[in-house]
Order: sequence, then structure tokens, then C-alpha cells
Amino acid sequence: MVISLAQETLTDKSMGAAAASSAANDDRYSQQILFSGIGAEGQQRLAQARVAIVGCGATGTALAGLLARAGVGTLRIIDRDYVEASNLQRQSLFDENDAAESKPKAIAAAQKIAAFNSSIVVEPRVEDLIPENVDEALAGMQLLLDGTDNFETRYLINDYAVKHDVPWIYAAAVGSYCATMNVIPGQTACLACIFPDSPRGMMETCETAGILNSAVNLVASVAATEALKFLVGAASSLRRSLVSFDVWSNQHAEISADKPRADCRVCGEREFVHLAGEGRPHITLCGRNSVQIHERQRSIDFAELNERLTPHGTVRHNEFVLKFWREPFEMTVFPDGRAIIKGTTDTSVARSLYARYVGN
Ligand SMILES: [Zn+2]
Repeated sequence: MVISLAQETLTDKSMGAAAASSAANDDRYSQQILFSGIGAEGQQRLAQARVAIVGCGATGTALAGLLARAGVGTLRIIDRDYVEASNLQRQSLFDENDAAESKPKAIAAAQKIAAFNSSIVVEPRVEDLIPENVDEALAGMQLLLDGTDNFETRYLINDYAVKHDVPWIYAAAVGSYCATMNVIPGQTACLACIFPDSPRGMMETCETAGILNSAVNLVASVAATEALKFLVGAASSLRRSLVSFDVWSNQHAEISADKPRADCRVCGEREFVHLAGEGRPHITLCGRNSVQIHERQRSIDFAELNERLTPHGTVRHNEFVLKFWREPFEMTVFPDGRAIIKGTTDTSVARSLYARYVGN
């Protein structure tokens, strides 16, 4: 689903209004234009920029908020999930109403951004980034930002970025720890140069370690600044290392990522196994006691499903999601047939619930 929240164009306005709007934008960005690294020309470049943010949870909302306020002209926000109360501690673009309505995160983010910067375009996409849609979902973007919570999706982004020569910025946070790295294909190391396999520590702790919102905002601030450097053309200022911080223990580390590794599977040998669909994204959602079902692409008629499910439990739907409660499970169905089933991490239980209530 793509909903463009583009605001009225210049042709819709009187010349007077256009001049006023331009003056308002000069004023809006005046403190950023004063900064010598950006200036008026850099601000112009930001207005033309096209950036994708993959994943709109804690890191993704912080990145989107910073870049939207900075005036990045087009932000494509891709996220598969919906807002819950437990997100509000750290996911800075959402509020209690979004959680009460189970609003898809990409939609809620686009609406929130439109309220504070109506002069940029936000393209929300409510979907999981997978090999089947990655080409279309990331097409036309000049920079990709990592707001994901899993290495499968990061390896998919890395494959796409190296194959199509599009820079991307890795960012991750768990507990009080966070890490980020710029990947400029052909120039710096790629994700697989540094992590040929998923780092186990990051994978295991997301279930148990919780997360500090300050670690998220730190890594998003560092990554958003690197994004601004890239977008305004300040290539020589880009960091060429993997940097990490632990905001609780005050540790800080940096390892060089200056050069691609010659024997790297991805950027050296150009084997794109994740684009080919090997190493499929996992269907359990980390830390959520939930399973995602998305094997079957089907278009769902919410009104029809609502009627069919009413005898079996509590059902509610809006234009974006349908929710169905039947103790101890909660099922959230999206218009494309994807579903998130809460109350189990057992994929076979989730699959049989889906088959019983949504269909085979
Ligand atoms: Zn590499």
C-alpha cells in the first residue's frame, strides 16, 4: 500500500502564497542554513533528496523525525507493524491514540510528520521488506536507512545496496548498547564484510535485554547526521568505521570499516543470497510473543471477515487493520492478507489459527 501524503504543489497556490511559503521555509530551516556544513545550497539538496527508512520502530521513528524536520524532501517509510502501548516508551512519532487504534506505524508516522512539516513528501508503505518486493520498495531512493530490528532484513538491504550501488546506513540498538556504520558500496566495508553471519549477541538479547530510549536516540542522531553529510555532498566528512556506544557503562568502541574485504561474499564475490530469497526473514517477532504469517498474498475484505469472525470472538477494524480477539490470542490482519498473531511464538499454532479464521 502506498499513500502519498504530498501536500499541495506550487501550481495550487497563488503566487503570493507561494512566496509566503518559500519565505516560511527559509525561516523554518534558518538555523540549519546558518550551519556552515549545510548552507543554502545544502538545504536545496536536502529538499531534492529521496531517502528510504526501513522499519519504523524506535530507531526508525527517531531517524524519520530528525530527517523530516531537517527538510529531506522525500521520505519513504516501510514498516510491517502496528502501534502498541509498549512502543510509546521509545517510538517518538506515536501517541496513545495511535496505539488505541492499532494504527500501522508507517501511516501513523506519515500523519505525525505531516503535522509538523507539510512541505515534504512522505510515502508510507505498510509491508514487510522481503526479497519479492525489495526492488519495488526501494526503487528510486538515493540512500537507505536501517530502522529494522533483525539481521535478516539488514542482509537483504545490504545485498540490494551493494548490487545497485546505493549507500545505506546500518543502525542497531539493544539494552543500553547501540552501533552504526555507513556502507558506501565499492568504497567502504559492507555489512557482510564486518558480520559475515548474524552477531549472536544482538540476536539473543533483543528478547531479554529491553531497550533504553536514550540508546536509540543516540544511534539515530549519529546515523541521521551521516545521512545529512551524504545528502549535501560532504563525502569527506563521512565516518568510515563501525562505531558503538554503551550509554550505561560508558564504553565506546570504533573499528575500521574503511575498505571492502576482498573475500567478502557480498561485495567481493557479489553473491546476493538474501535477494535470492535464501535465509528468509523469520516469522517470529522479536520480544513480542508474536508470530507473523505472510506466506499467502491475498486481498482481504475487512467487512466480510468482520462478519465471519463475529460469532467467534471480538472483532474490530478500520481502513488499515482488522483485529480479532479470541483468548488467549489476538490476531491483527492487514489488507494484503498478512497477519500478526499475538499470544504464541509457536509458528504451527499461529498457522493453524490463521487457516481456521482467515482461510487457507
Ligand atoms: Zn562486503
